[in-house]
Amino acid sequence: MEKLKAAVKGKKIILLGPPGSGKGNRSKDLKELGLVHVASGIALRARVRNDAESELSKKAKDYMKRGDLVPDDIVVPIVMEHLKKKECVVNGFVLDGFPRNKSQSEILFSEMDIDLVLYLEVPRRHLIYGIVEANRRTCTKCALTYSDFDPPQDAEACNKCGGEIVKRADDNAETIKYRLKLYEEETKAFLPDLEAKGIVELLPITVSDDEEVDTSKLKTLRGDVYRTETDQGESVRMLNLVAMRERLFDILVEKFM
Ligand code: AMP
Repeated sequence: MEKLKAAVKGKKIILLGPPGSGKGNRSKDLKELGLVHVASGIALRARVRNDAESELSKKAKDYMKRGDLVPDDIVVPIVMEHLKKKECVVNGFVLDGFPRNKSQSEILFSEMDIDLVLYLEVPRRHLIYGIVEANRRTCTKCALTYSDFDPPQDAEACNKCGGEIVKRADDNAETIKYRLKLYEEETKAFLPDLEAKGIVELLPITVSDDEEVDTSKLKTLRGDVYRTETDQGESVRMLNLVAMRERLFDILVEKFM
């Protein structure tokens, strides 16, 4: 662990994945290695909460409520300012929720090099189920998420930081479907550019039946191994939080050590 921490120090990592793909939880894993977590969604929600009456906050809130992308002139300065802070330069960062479209990607890459993009691959069917039916809740302080798969020990307080756990206003069926559609359209517009740079690594959550995996590594729902369908219609199992952390760290070892 100490060797891995030293190897990732100063690295700039992007987490790319649709809503509900586990960006918050993977960010927590990367934070344990010393990277600074920079999440555009958390930054925007904090801005709207702390400065509720400003025109900027009201405008941002409207977009967020609908699940639309907040305009670049609001979100880009908030994120870029954070990434240039000394704590990010020295320790490195994990960027969560940004870039979300081609122009954000171009601005980011024109200002800094990125070491790694982790592409979180999760079946669409599970994304909707995990957020809506399994009742995703989010910590307002550190953004860790919980659901019926991984319920918090205390229904209202985060296991990790004690922050308040709430259901996000935009975590409803209609908005989720819209956010997924937007994600697919907008990400497809810039993902090939990042792939061409050779920095994208796939981090899949599914385990096909051909793969032998210890049950202790599988996602369960109320005691049973959970199964979902891939976008191609194959029935699959999924890795749990502990196993995803291992899969993530294996990629980092391979890449940086
Ligand atoms: P998230 O917490 O990443 O799911 O973001 C919540 C909401 O914040 C999104 O649905 C958008 O309305 C807004 N948002 C977050 N990141 C961005 C971004 N990079 N560009 C535009 N809007 C964003």
